Amino acid sequence: MPGIIPHRHCIVCGKAIEPDKTFCSDDCRAEMEKERKKQRNFTIIMFLILFGILFMLMFMPTH
Ligand SMILES: [Zn+2]
Repeated sequence: MPGIIPHRHCIVCGKAIEPDKTFCSDDCRAEMEKERKKQRNFTIIMFLILFGILFMLMFMPTH
């Protein structure tokens, strides 16, 4: 297909960018970093909750 230049889209805002880039700007990079940290914190919290439930089940008197 003629006229189509290989390109990617910024994974944060969707702007067309060069194929070797992931973000269109440092702002979008920072935004992604923020999101990733938030997601990591969420994963840690979920893990702690799960572990807490497991711990409670293990030490619950069942007999
Ligand atoms: Zn962007």
